[in-house]
Amino acid sequence: MGSISVLLVAKVIPYLEQELNKRYNLLRIWDYPQKSQLLTQHSASIRAVVGNASAGADAEFIDALPKLEIVSSYSVGVDMIDLNKCKEKGIRVTNTPDVLTDDVADLAIGLILALLRRICESDRYVRNGNWKSGDYKLTTKFSGKTVGIIGLGRIGTAIAKRAEGFNCPISYFSRTQKQESKYKYYPSVVELASNSDILVVACPLTEETHHIINREVINALGPKGYLINIGRGKHVDEPELVSALLEGRLGGAGLDVFENEPHVPEELFGLENVVLLPHVGSGTVETRTAMADLVLGNLEAHFLGKPLLTPLV
Ligand code: NAP
Repeated sequence: MGSISVLLVAKVIPYLEQELNKRYNLLRIWDYPQKSQLLTQHSASIRAVVGNASAGADAEFIDALPKLEIVSSYSVGVDMIDLNKCKEKGIRVTNTPDVLTDDVADLAIGLILALLRRICESDRYVRNGNWKSGDYKLTTKFSGKTVGIIGLGRIGTAIAKRAEGFNCPISYFSRTQKQESKYKYYPSVVELASNSDILVVACPLTEETHHIINREVINALGPKGYLINIGRGKHVDEPELVSALLEGRLGGAGLDVFENEPHVPEELFGLENVVLLPHVGSGTVETRTAMADLVLGNLEAHFLGKPLLTPLV
């Protein structure tokens, strides 16, 4: 398979890059500062694109690669890939579901605990020597708080299971009510937010879910409510979130993802009631290795004419 050209459009762990390089004629997009140069030299040979949560393949790029057969994403979210264009052109798409579910759910609970119990802030309190001048202030209890989840899929369900361990009543919103679920369903995000202490975003980013967290939802969550986003940054209208936090209309926010990564609104840096993470939901050695193996397995299956491991399109 060494003659097959595979284009890597995002930075991935060294293991994945090395394995791709061993198996294929690997092209790295960053070696071509001008996209036109890459296309002139290689558009007629690239048969696979490997991307991630921050870079994929839009319609224009797909159209520019006439030999493209498969887009394999090193992420479960495929919002950076034009799925309709892939369907239309018969290009296959794979992602990395399931293997990252536990890590992302663990991190969501970590964000909740860090936010309500002010773990990061009280760590800074100790490091700055402030403890010597007095005890840290009281914080907010997590156990028993109502948790609302937007998107009761693999990750949403794993978060719900974990939150149940903290005796939290769980409710959710999604496009369809899950008949098999014992959790309370709300048919709108605003109703879910009005009835939750903690609102967790765990749905895919689509046209429908872009800015699903808007001013109305934030106001419904209210000054004692907490927003956790482990989905995608564009789920949240960020200027609205910033002003709600600055004006005290929202209790706090735990964010793993941002609208314009890696740029984070600087107004958030001075706030105690936010926890800010650099999009690390699936960022453990174990999980990123398992995700890499899925990318490699899907490409191998495709080029050997075998069934894909995790096909999306
Ligand atoms: P999943 O199993 O496909 O679950 C998605 C859930 O969202 C489903 O229950 C679906 O239910 C619901 N949903 C879809 N469209 C919706 C809409 N318009 N409004 C409300 N709910 C909607 O996906 P997953 O594996 O749990 O992953 C979820 C997302 O997490 C990914 O797409 C990705 O963007 C994000 N993620 C982030 C990180 C990170 O590092 N922070 C890591 C992994 C994943 P219905 O079809 O009934 O609506």
